[in-house]
Amino acid sequence: MLATQNNHYVETGAIANNVILQVSDYMKNVVQNKTLIILLGFQVLNNPGQSIGSPSSIDNAPAASATTHAPTVPKTEPVRGSNPYGGMSQAPAAPIMRTAGSSSSKPITPIAALNMYQNRWTIKARVTNKSDIRHWSNAKGEGQLFSMEVLDSTMDIRATFFKEAVDKFYNMLEVDKIYCLSGGRLKAANMQYNTCKSSFEITFDQNAEITLESDTGEIKHQSYDLKPISELDSVEPGAHVDILGVVKSVGEPSTIVSKKSGKELQKCELTIGDDSGGEVACTIWGDRAMGAPQEFAGTPVVAFRRARVSDFGGRTLSASGGNGTVVNPKLPEADRLRNWWQSGGNQGAVKKMSTGGMGANRFPEFDQRKNIAAIKGEGMGHSSESKPDYVSFKATVSFIKSDKEGGAWYPACMNPEDPCKNRCKVTQNTDGTFHCDRCNQSNPDCLYRYIFSATISDGSATSWVSFFDDQARILFEGMEANDLQKIYVDEAQGGMEAYQGFFSKAQFTDWVFTCKVKQEFHQDEARVKTSIQSIHPVDYAKEGRSMLNAILAM
Ligand SMILES: [Zn+2]
Repeated sequence: MLATQNNHYVETGAIANNVILQVSDYMKNVVQNKTLIILLGFQVLNNPGQSIGSPSSIDNAPAASATTHAPTVPKTEPVRGSNPYGGMSQAPAAPIMRTAGSSSSKPITPIAALNMYQNRWTIKARVTNKSDIRHWSNAKGEGQLFSMEVLDSTMDIRATFFKEAVDKFYNMLEVDKIYCLSGGRLKAANMQYNTCKSSFEITFDQNAEITLESDTGEIKHQSYDLKPISELDSVEPGAHVDILGVVKSVGEPSTIVSKKSGKELQKCELTIGDDSGGEVACTIWGDRAMGAPQEFAGTPVVAFRRARVSDFGGRTLSASGGNGTVVNPKLPEADRLRNWWQSGGNQGAVKKMSTGGMGANRFPEFDQRKNIAAIKGEGMGHSSESKPDYVSFKATVSFIKSDKEGGAWYPACMNPEDPCKNRCKVTQNTDGTFHCDRCNQSNPDCLYRYIFSATISDGSATSWVSFFDDQARILFEGMEANDLQKIYVDEAQGGMEAYQGFFSKAQFTDWVFTCKVKQEFHQDEARVKTSIQSIHPVDYAKEGRSMLNAILAM
């Protein structure tokens, strides 16, 4: 039998009938009185196209000839002949392998050799990651759980503890310590949440047996499968990678509201570089984001375990703020990287994997900015038929077109759900209600959303741009179009004059903008349209830090 991580040899046809393997690592198992060999490590040599000799089943061979040997698993001794459950019952037996010098007398199964045919096993592994306790409650009842990841010399696996097991084991299990664990159930790993190498995951209830073991140093503290940053463009979006890099700059922490859960999330963006010459934006999430400017100051080397790769803005990374992110990890590669950085790596050429300011409402750092003249000068908007260009700069709002009839907004559908999401334009019926063609509903009210043109200027040029609701609200310091419309139509609240006041106040203000530049066709005539994608107030302390980072990176 192949260990599941080797299934691809069969899927790709590398292992077919009559193929010759050189086996370097395997385990023996007895299942229902049949001897089974689980192949852990091997090399495919060749395929003579026919069978060699006339082999017979090992089960018919004399018992003494069955031996096990596992040369690449350190400090294990082969146990000959018998097995601890030998000849007992139909129950599958545990593999026969002992860890020399272990205080535990239990046979240890390497994580890579766990399989569905075994229902009794003990693994000896280091806890590399432990979650907080999560509580759930639904129609079926309520409960609690936590999960952790454990690593042995073969690979890592995720384990989840439920209900009473949480009270019993949560405090006992400490990150970085080594335990013998048994009494769990295996199931296929849920790849959506599970980033461990094993294709299984374990669930433990209160009957789990867990003992603390001494740390003899044979199990690594963390397993990294490091990916050079410059190769991230070949990684599929959604995949997880281990990255080791120097933190070149730290953005400002901010809070966003998750569209999925409606909960507030803290985030902070780091710019990471390594000696492959690559540079990538990596967002840290959670409580740790708020302290990120202090924690990641001074260009430390940081290891990100299982950071998620996204194609949002070229390639960007998303890292949990948990203990998968380690500052100055004790790794030989970290020393190498620190030396590289200090001996001029900070001055070398850079391959930027993330395009600044694309899509996201992210703050464009000083070294990612151009000027308004670049929109025309670089022919932006023409580079691709489907993809817009993005450009960031600091500029002044020089004119706002506020004289649109009825106000600088449009009436939008009241439906906050898909497909309208308060964005679709509605038309007023003769009875005064508003009709939406998209969701085909009429509502007594509508929701006003800003839309207007303006000019912005910097030292290089002036450009017409379109403002939409999200960005205009920031320009007007939080004033909603719906509220301004009420003022606009009500003389008692100031009417037109008060309305104009908001536009006058916003004129000649400075902002850091990111604009989307796209070619559009109107009656077969191509026009390049520039719209405001994000708008950030000019904070001079932040500007200073951003410039300093740009100088340091030169
Ligand atoms: Zn609608």
